[in-house]
Amino acid sequence: MKIATKFIHAGAEPDPSTGAIMTPIYQTSTYVQEAPGVNKGYEYARSQNPTRKALEDAYATIENAKYALAFSSGVAATDSVMKLLQPGDEVIAANDMYGGTYRLFTKVYERFGIVFKYTDTTNVSNVKQLITAKTKLVWIETPTNPLMNITDIAAVAAITKAAGILLCVDNTFASPYLQNPLDLGADIVMHSATKYLGGHSDVIQGCLMMNDSALKDQLYFIQKSCGAVPGPMDCFLVLRGIKTLHVRMQRHCENGEKIAHYLRNHPKVKKVYWCGFEDHPGYTVARQQMRGFGGMMSFELKDDSVATATKVLSSTKLFSLAESLGGVESLINHPASMTHASIPREERIKHGLSDALIRLSVGIEDADDLMADLEQAIG
Ligand SMILES: *Cc1c(COP(=O)(O)O)cnc(C)c1O
Repeated sequence: MKIATKFIHAGAEPDPSTGAIMTPIYQTSTYVQEAPGVNKGYEYARSQNPTRKALEDAYATIENAKYALAFSSGVAATDSVMKLLQPGDEVIAANDMYGGTYRLFTKVYERFGIVFKYTDTTNVSNVKQLITAKTKLVWIETPTNPLMNITDIAAVAAITKAAGILLCVDNTFASPYLQNPLDLGADIVMHSATKYLGGHSDVIQGCLMMNDSALKDQLYFIQKSCGAVPGPMDCFLVLRGIKTLHVRMQRHCENGEKIAHYLRNHPKVKKVYWCGFEDHPGYTVARQQMRGFGGMMSFELKDDSVATATKVLSSTKLFSLAESLGGVESLINHPASMTHASIPREERIKHGLSDALIRLSVGIEDADDLMADLEQAIG
């Protein structure tokens, strides 16, 4: 089945009790049982909910996975993966990733005795060198937030498979429309569904997809035991979002390409970080593992003072100054003070995330209007 058909029909079965074409919002905490232990597969809504089940089926379908689990947020999904580990276990993680993932690793899981080793995963031999007998998991993000670095998923998967350790890929930036890490050998895919999957900036949610049934059982046990489950209304919203993911992503890609080139040709712009440029260091790998380059990018002005960046950030009218990404409306963000403020300044600068970097989540408005907005803001 082709992707457009798949995304629209993913998880969609008419409701068995009424035939409703849209999965109802099963706003219930519990289910009446016929006799003790005799039920319809639903006992208590932390463990099972029909709206969530429909969404989890959709999640599995869009990532070509056998199984999927929905969580109350993207970080709750990440947190559940970390709970597979024991004190003393080692994790190799990308040094350029979502600030909240870094905060969870350093501020929460280091306290529980998990050891994190950060490296530039765009060079996969760095990953190989850091593996020890204690390494249990490799965590990567590609493209990265906000510098749009590309890691070769299949190459890292070959290393983790040989070493018998897990590879988890945060696929939030690409979305399943552009990239499917399980097909490239990853063990777990994580998404912040808050972003492209929901797509309308109206819900917080996360998910994990996987093919191994024992791994699914472990993660389901963690989910049920720790309780980071999404509510049925939120599941309904993401189910609805997924139906238009492919058309939204097509426009995000088209607009992204136009705006990346516009910025690159702008006399006041020093550098644009977007993985669709042929001279981007990850371009060849991006072409291999992605079906398009998306609408996320960052840039620096030639006048790279924070004051000038702040002026641009406060002057756009269509690009709203806000955290988050992946919605239909365009957003502008200052990673150093907003999404990545939890990363110490020296760490940020060392990895190329300057104080004056501006990140764009290009929405699906008219590209000419978006360029005019940037033009008046950059001046
Ligand atoms: C937003 C985001 C997360 C965290 O997801 P939440 O839904 O906000 O908890 C993780 N990874 C990436 C790449 C993100 O953009």
